[in-house]
Amino acid sequence: AASPAAGSGGGRRRRVLLFPVPFQGHLTPMLQLAGALHARGGGGLGVTVFYAAFNAPDPARHPAAFRFVPVGEGVPSADLLPSGSDADFAVALLRLNDRLREPFRDRLRQALAEEEEEEGGGAAACLVVDSNLRGMQLVAEELGVPTLVLRTGAAACLVAYMAFPALCDKGLLPPASQDKAQLDMPLDELTPLRLRDMVFSPTTTHGNMERCLQHLLDAARSSSGVILNTFQDLEDSDLQKITNGLGVPMYTVGPLHKISSGTESSLLAQDQTCLKWLDKQEADSVLYVSLGSLASMDEKELLETAWGLANSQSPFLWVIRHNMVRSSHQVSLPEGFEEATHGRGMVVPWAPQQEVLAHHAIGGFWTHNGWNSTLESICEGVPMICRPQFADQMINMRYVQEVWKIGFELEGGLERGKVEMAITKLLCTEEGRQMRQRAKDLRDKAVKCIEDEGSSKSAIDLLLKRIMSF
Ligand code: UDP
Repeated sequence: AASPAAGSGGGRRRRVLLFPVPFQGHLTPMLQLAGALHARGGGGLGVTVFYAAFNAPDPARHPAAFRFVPVGEGVPSADLLPSGSDADFAVALLRLNDRLREPFRDRLRQALAEEEEEEGGGAAACLVVDSNLRGMQLVAEELGVPTLVLRTGAAACLVAYMAFPALCDKGLLPPASQDKAQLDMPLDELTPLRLRDMVFSPTTTHGNMERCLQHLLDAARSSSGVILNTFQDLEDSDLQKITNGLGVPMYTVGPLHKISSGTESSLLAQDQTCLKWLDKQEADSVLYVSLGSLASMDEKELLETAWGLANSQSPFLWVIRHNMVRSSHQVSLPEGFEEATHGRGMVVPWAPQQEVLAHHAIGGFWTHNGWNSTLESICEGVPMICRPQFADQMINMRYVQEVWKIGFELEGGLERGKVEMAITKLLCTEEGRQMRQRAKDLRDKAVKCIEDEGSSKSAIDLLLKRIMSF
């Protein structure tokens, strides 16, 4: 199909500015979006990526036409990173907005001025900002730059966040007690969510959660449009609710990683040797275990996971990130683990996850249910063992288990017997096989959405037209 950018914008070259939240799960989809727009725009669209200096993408791994502009080089990264056992993502987001806002104003002004001067460089059309960066959006508004908002989570999650203020008004949030019955209370208008799924994390205060979500909803409502990394056939009814509730145009453009590769945006080096190892394993036989870029476990959980994997007798590929085990600088696997799993398991510090999930040997994914991981799993037809920890992960898990029925939660304290049973259920039973079949059906739907006339491809074209029209 012809590129919608060709001939639009009165022949002027245009440039899109982007500002992702500087964490892996946010950076990746934003860069994928940039790649998709750039490619679809047939080279007619320039791209400038603003980034927080402490988590810098590598310009060498992106098209030469991409410009990368650091923001807040002087701000200590310790001020901005969620860290420690009580890592609080809400605090990190509030701080990011607070500390990077002033430096961003200078950078944006500079970028706008340079683009005016530069011959053929392309005038800035708009800023695409992560939905968590309301502070940067305000700066853009101040300088007269239109904004679009990228939501890197599920539509289901945005619907839940839109309902958050009303749940507070009704007195349901924050939960009156930590009583199990209270926390398990189903939320009628948000089926299959329960009250507990609306709590960000045990360490996030209700006040901070409220503030973060207020900023997020303000950002969405005051933007010229919201871009979602999901697909129509997966989340049709929640997408409809958002359309009705936000009152701004929506662009459902996912799965972005299938439209534009994201491997080049990995902040950590990916161990490629595991793909060779997977080549030697049987189809649908291997469990892939990864908690994404931020979730963690303590030493006892590491131990129980290790023995659960060892005792299950199933092949596994396990990602143990350098900072995955809390309060431990040097991760050590239990004595005897190596011998017990020799040849059957592989441990890597970071994997090429999208390729791993696409490998025919992978039969299941033990995941923390970050949205990217969940979507990547769905797009390869891989069923999941869910172990959500914070933010939107519980919401994603509920949809995986209750709506799409392509996985189940491994609940409560980690204990080797439970781990072993969960693995067996997913990889070796009829129930697991049915989950895999449903996941493969969803994968087929995802493939349709990104075909040339598919809903997501069409949405990208519409989005591009909109950008060229600013
Ligand atoms: N990822 C990866 N290698 C790994 C583990 C994760 O490349 O070993 C990528 C994964 O493909 C996904 C991202 O890191 O795109 C994690 O994002 P997600 O939203 O799942 O979780 P978060 O890290 O934000 O909690």
